[in-house]
Amino acid sequence: MHIAQHISLLPYNTFGIDVEASLFAGVSNLSDLQHIPASQPVYILGGGSNVLLSGPVNGLVLQNRLKGISIQQEDDKNVWLEAASGEVWHQFVLYAIDHGWGGLENLALIPGTVGAAPIQNIGAYGAEVKDTITQVTFWHLEEQRFITYSNGECRFGYRDSIFKNELKGKAFITSVVYKLSKHPVLNTSYGAIEQELSVMQVTEPTVKDIAAAVIRIRTSKLPDPKVTGNAGSFFKNPTIARSQYESLLHQFPAMPHFPVSNELVKVPAAWLIEQCGWKGYRKGDVGVHDRQALVLVNLGHASGNEIWQLSGDIIASVVARFGIELEREVQVW
Ligand SMILES: Cc1cc2nc3c(=O)[nH]c(=O)nc-3n(C[C@H](O)[C@H](O)[C@H](O)COP(=O)(O)OP(=O)(O)OC[C@H]3O[C@@H](n4cnc5c(N)ncnc54)[C@H](O)[C@@H]3O)c2cc1C
Repeated sequence: MHIAQHISLLPYNTFGIDVEASLFAGVSNLSDLQHIPASQPVYILGGGSNVLLSGPVNGLVLQNRLKGISIQQEDDKNVWLEAASGEVWHQFVLYAIDHGWGGLENLALIPGTVGAAPIQNIGAYGAEVKDTITQVTFWHLEEQRFITYSNGECRFGYRDSIFKNELKGKAFITSVVYKLSKHPVLNTSYGAIEQELSVMQVTEPTVKDIAAAVIRIRTSKLPDPKVTGNAGSFFKNPTIARSQYESLLHQFPAMPHFPVSNELVKVPAAWLIEQCGWKGYRKGDVGVHDRQALVLVNLGHASGNEIWQLSGDIIASVVARFGIELEREVQVW
């Protein structure tokens, strides 16, 4: 493993923030992990699509380049597909779809790597990756050994897992096993999927059609990071007590919500942000996307700190108006 010094991270993060890492190395083999020097902080980077680089990174940035997909096991109904963590997520989804295997089609076109998917339990269009993951294997940086966790041990939650909590910064995920279906049950109920399928004139959809519909919707709604720097949704949708929701409803009768349980409801963060007037906001090179208020954008040469400050201003204004504190989804370095 070659460790380089003073490397610009501009090509390695979708926000397009230009800061340096004091040390940088690519991890291409599992054996590289045993040679990580313990003398400085370590930062693990996949596709850089869920990080905000708030300033220069003083430490060793390890870019994940582990590759490989193989069948771990199969029977008449399912296939257990193991993918190395550096595989590009969307390419992996396409691989499954090309074989007609179901489970990942609603998660098409999410940027990033296979290994980052369990970190925040990626989700979109009514699906979460936790519903297909059976195993996650990682290198424990402190204990210097490989460990495999079952789905339950990963403690998945909404955009959450043990890797964002107890194991934050301690685990380099090396591979993930996904249980996919050979007889997929399609999930078309969420968002505009059904509508898009009818525009596509598809009456009996396959997994490929679902992915194609999701790709069409995402492309029309979300900014392409190659054109406009962004990290997708910057904030999580907040979960609040039903009683708080009901009292807010008197003041804001149009407030949308999704039930989580008898006591809890989720409120779309995009709606809250939009109500505070942020949609389409721009100050210098930072802004809020004009079609999706959850997405903060770098419109040129914004610094990570400017984006951080804008996110703080948004959080403060939502607290002031609704008494709800938004939580950042993006990992801040
Ligand atoms: C346009 C756009 C749309 C998006 N849409 C969605 C969406 O619909 N749903 C959704 O859930 N997310 C979405 N995201 C967020 C992002 O794509 C996902 O969170 C993705 O899983 C991040 O992958 P990555 O490889 O880029 O991770 P990175 O940004 O490189 O890393 C994210 C975090 O995971 C850690 N990490 C990465 N790889 C490993 C590893 N192998 N082992 C241990 N830690 C690791 C990093 O240290 C960092 O803390 C979107 C982002 C963009 C830019």
